[in-house]
Amino acid sequence: MPHINQDIIQSLTVQETDRFLENHRGSKRLFERAKRSLMAGVPMNWMVRWAGPYPLFVSEARGASIKDVDGNRYLDLCLGDTGSMFGHSPKPVVDAVRKQISRGITMMLPTEDSIWVGEELSRRFGLPYWQIAMTATDANRFSIRLAREVTKRKYILVVHGCYHGTVDETLINLEDGKVVPRGGNMGPPVPPSTTTKAVQFNDVDALKKALSPGDVACVLMEPAMTNRGIILPDMGYHDEVRRLTAETGTLLIIDETHTICCGVGGYTGVHRLKPDMITMGKPLASGIPAAAFGVSQYVSDRVMERILSDGTDESGLGGTLTGNALAVVAMRATLENVITRQAFEKVMPLAKRFEKGVDDVIKSREVPWHVARLGARIEYHFCPDAPRNGAEADAAKDAELEKLLHLMMLNRGILMTPFHNMALISPATTAKDVDRHTAVFGECVDAIFG
Ligand code: PMP
Repeated sequence: MPHINQDIIQSLTVQETDRFLENHRGSKRLFERAKRSLMAGVPMNWMVRWAGPYPLFVSEARGASIKDVDGNRYLDLCLGDTGSMFGHSPKPVVDAVRKQISRGITMMLPTEDSIWVGEELSRRFGLPYWQIAMTATDANRFSIRLAREVTKRKYILVVHGCYHGTVDETLINLEDGKVVPRGGNMGPPVPPSTTTKAVQFNDVDALKKALSPGDVACVLMEPAMTNRGIILPDMGYHDEVRRLTAETGTLLIIDETHTICCGVGGYTGVHRLKPDMITMGKPLASGIPAAAFGVSQYVSDRVMERILSDGTDESGLGGTLTGNALAVVAMRATLENVITRQAFEKVMPLAKRFEKGVDDVIKSREVPWHVARLGARIEYHFCPDAPRNGAEADAAKDAELEKLLHLMMLNRGILMTPFHNMALISPATTAKDVDRHTAVFGECVDAIFG
């Protein structure tokens, strides 16, 4: 089996960085200017975490393609880390937004579109009542709050390696059985072990033990993990999660923000899960800030009175711009025209083609890597077998190698999602794009393994 030689990694990194500098002078100029007014030279700190010494500054994004200020064009497999996973600026959404924008953006009053959205989300996801939020982070924070209100319990439970947005209680690691703050977590308000229990994904015994004292308000989890690479649930895992949560009076919140890549009703729709709440955001309005969370009749019955009787701005839910007319019209146009069955019929065969292309490269070169697919989302891991939980995925992480691989791909016109080896297939992605990725991936693997 071929091995990675660190000397090759280092010399490739120097070579590829020089190539990046050569082709991105305009981005460099903008980055130097940006550093004088924006922290870290970007409007949002994550943007410096792409491969290369500085981020690309974008001039235009359309469909599955991005153009930078130097005129370089890229096949975009990141797609705003899911925000644009059905393609950049889909026409029906652009048209709907254009129409609404001159008729009022935010009024603090509902529009009829919001009813359409509520009805459609109920139909797709099976929960009867919905609220709009601005971001998936918000949707998760609000759901946790409702869970605590319903159960009067203090803890929440998440899995190690989860990501649910910048929700304080979820920014944890499980180390030697203890809940500790995640490495990069700045200014945690309280030690997270006071709010949060954690277990490894797919570990039913640990979940049973953690829930048995009856002090956990909710389990918040993605139905398949997507933020430490793709980690699929074991057969029967979700039945056990539902059984244990129900038995202990713990509410189950399923975060569909990324797993919406499985189908029009997300993983929940495909696998007929029965959570108490569902949260989602990112692509719901094609990238215009909008998110949603749904609740069961049981949850609704227990919070409605409080929501209506207390000052709503003291309830801890929502914000002034939440549910604004523009976001809601964009959600409607997206659900009606973009996140559709036809879109999934188009992307699924391409996603399978992508997975097979990567698998063929891995097998033909006999490299100790692995590829996983979840609907239209594909990810390669630097380990031969599929990880079963966040700890196993952590063990396979190689940050240097990942940066180099992403830089090599970028220099060859392909953008992978930063932080992990993730690719998203949109309805605008073509078979030619997929095959181009396979060829470039093969070229990179050959160079890396010498
Ligand atoms: N849930 C999941 C599963 C996510 O991956 C993310 C972001 N990557 C979020 C929630 C938070 O989304 P946002 O940053 O848009 O609030």
